[in-house]
Amino acid sequence: MAISKGSTAAVIGSGVGGLAAAIRLQAQGIQTTLFEKMERPGGRGHSFELDGFRFDAGPTVITAPGCIEDLYTLCGKRMEDYVKIRSLTPFYRLRWEDGGVFDYDADPKSLKQQMDDFGPGEWEGYQRFLAYAEEVYEQGYVDLSHVSFSSFWSMMKVAPDLLRLRATTPIYQTVSKFVRSERLRQILSFNTLLIGGNPFDVSSIYSLIHPLEKKFGVHSAEGGMGSLVDGLWRLYQDIGGKVRLGAEVDRINVEGGAVSGLALANGETYKVNTVVSNCDMIETYGRLLKHLPDAKRLANRWGKKHFSMSLFVYYFGTDKMFPGLSHHNILFGHRYRELLKDIFHRGVIPDDFSLYLYAPSVNDPTMAPEGGGSFYVLSPVAHMGKNNVDWDQFGPVYRDKIINYLEKHYMPGLRSSIKVDKMFTPKDFESSYNSHLGSAFSLEPRLTQSAYFRLQNRDKDFEGLYFVGASTHPGAGLPGVIDSAKATTDLIVAPEGQSRPFWKDSLTQAPVLT
Ligand SMILES: Cc1cc2nc3c(=O)[nH]c(=O)nc-3n(C[C@H](O)[C@H](O)[C@H](O)COP(=O)(O)OP(=O)(O)OC[C@H]3O[C@@H](n4cnc5c(N)ncnc54)[C@H](O)[C@@H]3O)c2cc1C
Repeated sequence: MAISKGSTAAVIGSGVGGLAAAIRLQAQGIQTTLFEKMERPGGRGHSFELDGFRFDAGPTVITAPGCIEDLYTLCGKRMEDYVKIRSLTPFYRLRWEDGGVFDYDADPKSLKQQMDDFGPGEWEGYQRFLAYAEEVYEQGYVDLSHVSFSSFWSMMKVAPDLLRLRATTPIYQTVSKFVRSERLRQILSFNTLLIGGNPFDVSSIYSLIHPLEKKFGVHSAEGGMGSLVDGLWRLYQDIGGKVRLGAEVDRINVEGGAVSGLALANGETYKVNTVVSNCDMIETYGRLLKHLPDAKRLANRWGKKHFSMSLFVYYFGTDKMFPGLSHHNILFGHRYRELLKDIFHRGVIPDDFSLYLYAPSVNDPTMAPEGGGSFYVLSPVAHMGKNNVDWDQFGPVYRDKIINYLEKHYMPGLRSSIKVDKMFTPKDFESSYNSHLGSAFSLEPRLTQSAYFRLQNRDKDFEGLYFVGASTHPGAGLPGVIDSAKATTDLIVAPEGQSRPFWKDSLTQAPVLT
């Protein structure tokens, strides 16, 4: 049931999805209060400082910045007054252990030159792949990502299109139909790992990432991703939104099947009939609603689904910079398919790895003291439901292996240049964000866990309970969680079936960084 202007709402969790939902509700006249257990906003998108080095904890790649700008526009504000977004080129630098390098961006001349090196016909194959991906983009992103799927029939209406677009085929398999070189197949399929999906399992729907990047670019925020979150945090408060940091919600009260309020871990209570949970569904059903038998059943049901992998993240600040690095670096190991099988299926921690190395200091001097660099390196690892690694013991061992590897292949002299550092293991994902099994991206983005089959934006069992963020439709990643806020708040404030148009095609011109 839609609620009207002047009503109140609560959002639990200040992840980017929670922030976007709070902004949308507040901007539409619903007095909103945001409760966050941590002492700082942003969830996985928070940032922190160590001795003058600034670190972004999680998301670093901004795609579709128009959906962020829309939040400002909705509030009658200008994004550039809050955060400066800059487009990057290359989008990613992909590197292999034997010295191979590929700079991926939207420049056809440079792409053709590099793809020709992979063999005859690869550039043409890539063109055909892009044409296919553009169709998927129109169908899967523009039309579907920001609307909710409240009934099976709402999904069946689009099923023929999804089948025609090979939504049931894993993206690596689809890519392989267009190009032959293993390296090019890796280049065109690795992106799903950035939203928690194994390219050998994930639907080809995610090929839409390529047109999305080509159309809107890949961006960074000046001062790091922390500036993006700070901007949204300020925006929300500037329009009258209320915030509570260090306020862990312990229980959602329900009376007669409808939400009636919240109880905080410190014993405080708060009356409210509309609650948007930005926590994962196991935290929501299994803890916040654990006093209700129906919720226990739901927690058990969702607990059996496939959760995305976890991550081992190592943040480090150095007193020097390293040649050959770009803002975003993907460092492929010698195995791809088998490595991902170890992580997603076998649950073992392999001896080799493929890494993502974030190096914002390449073009943002504000991230580190003069001459130094702020970095993080991320290694996808199995979530804690798949193995029993003791991360307190194994974390430092794994960190040392990664430092040795980076030093050998990409960052000579790394170890002695490290001035500050911090590790973040699957165990930290669980304890810091209340994330089930320490999963980094919630439910894996498989077709059988997407759209209607994903957690619904509006709960069916408890009136007044809604979800936003990576757990719900459309899924993880910044554009995903921001779109989920649109899908969810439309269910709260718009009459049934109506959705306000929101997507705009262009971002205010951003300077390009190389
Ligand atoms: C290392 C890493 C790198 C990534 N890189 C990218 C990238 O480059 N680009 C991209 O688009 N995406 C990326 N992602 C994915 C993206 O960051 C996430 O999908 C997105 O930020 C999740 O947002 P969310 O709204 O689901 O909330 P979350 O960030 O999950 O936040 C949920 C919030 O709820 C709070 N909370 C939980 N329980 C309670 C409670 N009981 N009471 C109060 N508060 C509670 C938590 O503290 C947290 O702040 C990355 C993720 C990670 C981890």
